[in-house]
Amino acid sequence: MADWRDSLPEVRGKLMRDQPLAPYTWFRVGGPADILFLPADEEDLAAFLKDLPEDVPVTFLGVGSNTIVRDGGIEGVTIRLMGGYWGAVEPGGPHSLFARAGALDLAVAKTAAKQGISGLSFFSGIPGSIGGAVRTNAGCYGRELKDVANQIEGITRSGEKVRFEAEIAQYGDPKIEFSYRHTNFPEDVIVTGILLTGSGEGDPEALQKEIAEHQARRAETQPIREKTGGSTFANPDPPGTPDQRSSWKLVDQAGCRGLRVGGAQVSEKHCNFLINTDDATAADIEALGELVRARVLDVTGVSLRWEIRRIGRLQP
Ligand SMILES: Cc1cc2nc3c(=O)[nH]c(=O)nc-3n(C[C@H](O)[C@H](O)[C@H](O)COP(=O)(O)OP(=O)(O)OC[C@H]3O[C@@H](n4cnc5c(N)ncnc54)[C@H](O)[C@@H]3O)c2cc1C
Repeated sequence: MADWRDSLPEVRGKLMRDQPLAPYTWFRVGGPADILFLPADEEDLAAFLKDLPEDVPVTFLGVGSNTIVRDGGIEGVTIRLMGGYWGAVEPGGPHSLFARAGALDLAVAKTAAKQGISGLSFFSGIPGSIGGAVRTNAGCYGRELKDVANQIEGITRSGEKVRFEAEIAQYGDPKIEFSYRHTNFPEDVIVTGILLTGSGEGDPEALQKEIAEHQARRAETQPIREKTGGSTFANPDPPGTPDQRSSWKLVDQAGCRGLRVGGAQVSEKHCNFLINTDDATAADIEALGELVRARVLDVTGVSLRWEIRRIGRLQP
């Protein structure tokens, strides 16, 4: 039988067959992509998507800091925007930066500090890419992507370039909504770049200090040196709710701190984080998450919702 992978469109970037995805995620687990595509630039990506048969599924991956790739790997084409072109962060006008989607959030915070743009330091607390930040409305320390997103550029599954203007990046917009760690940004659009606008001028030295403080606080409270995926479960109540319930407290209350399944463990340091202690499979991590959910439901009556994305086939 013909293999769809034998007749892929010509590209200038890299196309890799049966490429293990574990090294591309923070948990360091997961099976291979049928095809992993690392496009050279926007033209390469658009032309590839245009010529790729419609029935081939496409999955977007950032730096995998919010994702469990299951052990069976990912069907179809997985696209990751990495390398010098995709990591660029450039001046974008008054108090603004244009970041390509593969840029690390930390690089955005550091560039903003260097250029004396305030209001973007919060990105230093998030270990993902800017493309992932759009999809997850990433945020911390009281700010989130939607507060600073000005213009978002992307390419649709059919290879068409699209641009969303500033007003979409607000809560309540009829077309695109951003809420806590969520957006209805079209699933079939891969973000290629974003114009970010800070809140004004800032002193570069003070901003660098702010970044150092954010990072020190993280290291103290989260297992950032471990193979992990960030907050596992969304808090049951949105921010601002009086007496807001936090997931970590519920997990702790249910006696799950340090709980293990195979090589996966609930972090002792922050019990809304699951960690791969070294030899975990994706199935171990997912089973541990489900066990925690069941225990929390049993003890507290609260049904926790996964914040981490779980993608791919279950079985190798
Ligand atoms: C130690 C640790 C601490 C964390 N702390 C925070 C925190 O404080 N606040 C916070 O918000 N998050 C936090 N996270 C979670 C994570 O860093 C964010 O969700 C981040 O935005 C994910 O970016 P990513 O590039 O890793 O995305 P991935 O995990 O690779 O993907 C996440 C989602 O984004 C989509 N996506 C990725 N790139 C694109 C693109 N170019 N176009 C369209 N869709 C795309 C993927 O399809 C997927 O649905 C933390 C994670 C870790 C490991």
